Amino acid sequence: MTFHNPWFLAALIGIVGWFHVKLLAEFLNLSRLSKEVPEPMRDVMTEEDLERAMEYHVALAKLEITRDGVMLGLFILFWWVGGFQWLDGLTSNIGGNAIVSGLLLISVLTALQGLLALPFDLWRTFGVETEFGFNTTTFSTFIGDRLKGLFLGALLGLPLLAVVLWLFERTPYAALWAWVVTTAVGLLMSWLSPRLIAPLFLKFTPLEDGPLRRAIMTLAEKLQFPVGEISIVDGSRRSTKANAFFTGFGSTKRIALFDTLLDGYTQDGIVGVLAHEIGHSKLKHVPKQIAVGLAQSALMFGLLHFALHDERLYAAFGVRYPSIAMGLVLFSLVYGPWSHLLDAPLQGITRKHEFEADRFAAESTGSPEPLMASLKKLSRDHLAHLTPHPFYVKLHYSHPPLLERLQALAKAK
Ligand SMILES: [Zn+2]
Repeated sequence: MTFHNPWFLAALIGIVGWFHVKLLAEFLNLSRLSKEVPEPMRDVMTEEDLERAMEYHVALAKLEITRDGVMLGLFILFWWVGGFQWLDGLTSNIGGNAIVSGLLLISVLTALQGLLALPFDLWRTFGVETEFGFNTTTFSTFIGDRLKGLFLGALLGLPLLAVVLWLFERTPYAALWAWVVTTAVGLLMSWLSPRLIAPLFLKFTPLEDGPLRRAIMTLAEKLQFPVGEISIVDGSRRSTKANAFFTGFGSTKRIALFDTLLDGYTQDGIVGVLAHEIGHSKLKHVPKQIAVGLAQSALMFGLLHFALHDERLYAAFGVRYPSIAMGLVLFSLVYGPWSHLLDAPLQGITRKHEFEADRFAAESTGSPEPLMASLKKLSRDHLAHLTPHPFYVKLHYSHPPLLERLQALAKAK
């Protein structure tokens, strides 16, 4: 380990720097919690609601800061005592060949990270979310979700990882092929997961014929949006937070409404939310975001290509014998924090798309009011931070802050 090693410096500055950037954003954001209900929310929100939202954000920030601090401390310690070299020796002894040892190494590190994060996940679900009345997950559902996630991750992730490792062992242009393979698998999964994976976690039941179903179908017909199926999802089994989503390419659009959304939101309001979602699809937001994502991952694999063959990367983490799997791990550690520099512009694009979808909803339903009412209710019920700090928004928000959306929607009248 030496300060002359650029990988060592990039890792140290990136990891420690990102921690401090996040910390700064948390404090700036907390300082912006307003004590007064903002004007547009006065008809749906009391001072008491606001007080509760403030307490919620303080509790979340405490959790975030503690988790980040503990994880950073443990990571630095692991690095300092030569944990990477130790684990490399252990897994290559057990594994035998490069691919099996590589799979073992990455599995052990992933499991370790998951185990360390588990207490904080429990704190969030059964501490903060329960305290503020959001959590409806039972302990067995929580554990069941974890086990299913672990099983799926192994089932899908290990073969893909094996292919990537094999490519890097065999071909000089492995980074290019790995980019192609992971992109193809990613696209395939986003197509398959609503059909195969979502039903493992959520129960879908068809929405019965009635005024809501007819209103949705009328909107879909008017917008020439082919709806194959409208279902209700049992989101209430995990959280009281409401949501709507839909999926599917081509002719089989599938709309899923959380049962929590049916509870308390008006029919027009739900239609407004769906019009927003249809807007994303009609305005081709998903392909645009996929294109940006592809450019990002191309850059990552390009850098990876150079990193894997640079012995200084391994030396920076005290690893004596370079290997593909260890290279992937170490590169991701260095690249991870710096990649947030790229996230900011990408999130800028998604925030722009949200405004566009909002405008689409207002125009297609003839009025911005129902969507505005739903957004206000969602923000109140989810105890949203109404006046987030711009720096925090830049860093973390994929959606524009509520007040900005309401302002833009009000103009669409
Ligand atoms: Zn949206």
